Amino acid sequence: MKALLGSGGIRTEGRRELYRKLMAENFTDCERVVFIPFASNDYNGYTSSMREFAGNTEYEIIGLHEFEDPLMGLEVADGIYVGGGNTWLLTKQLHLQKLIQPIREAVIKRKIPYAGVSAGANVASPSMQTTNDMAITMVPSFESLGIIPFQINPHYHPGGIWYREKENGDFHQHFGESRARRVSEFHELNDTPVIGLYEGAFLKCKDDEFELIGNKAAIMRKGEQILTYDPGVMFNGKLTTA
Ligand code: ASP
Repeated sequence: MKALLGSGGIRTEGRRELYRKLMAENFTDCERVVFIPFASNDYNGYTSSMREFAGNTEYEIIGLHEFEDPLMGLEVADGIYVGGGNTWLLTKQLHLQKLIQPIREAVIKRKIPYAGVSAGANVASPSMQTTNDMAITMVPSFESLGIIPFQINPHYHPGGIWYREKENGDFHQHFGESRARRVSEFHELNDTPVIGLYEGAFLKCKDDEFELIGNKAAIMRKGEQILTYDPGVMFNGKLTTA
């Protein structure tokens, strides 16, 4: 299995450069990368803006919705890229179009490289339940692709939050729930460990090895202290470094 899973927040030139380098490595030797735009409602617009953002790639980016039969699209793909947006919309379409099992098989059995940013990284997890997104639509099931054995929470930050009303105004404390608090609620009912990826962080996945690149990550386990790691660390599927 080969995958690149990113948090998003690719807002600086340095981060964009890193993203393009890691994407080029992930999709080395690929000619046709199928882009899955279902986290948005505008499949054509999203696919063309993604082509623009990806820049000059060695591979062609084709929207999965451009195929009459999406399963055919997966058959001819030698790379799969799932874009960010709303994880509920994305998960719903993956189920309605019966793509969960075929994508899982393509990635795990046929070793087709996968890339997912934000919502696209959420759905690489066994379930979509550690998304930050609003439940804007109903999903047939929370089950997602399960190509990694742990959960991702993208756009993670350790909190608390401080904000300003005006550009140069004073900072005020927000006092709202932190991400860690929300993930601890997930752990009230679930045991799967969660990795909170800071903005600009990526996990480079190769079978059971997961390298953290670009920014920090927090490992959250049921009933345990949060452990924060700097980029460069290598995890296994249990999210331990041993
Ligand atoms: N909305 C996020 C994205 O950019 C996903 C998330 O925050 O869970 O895809």
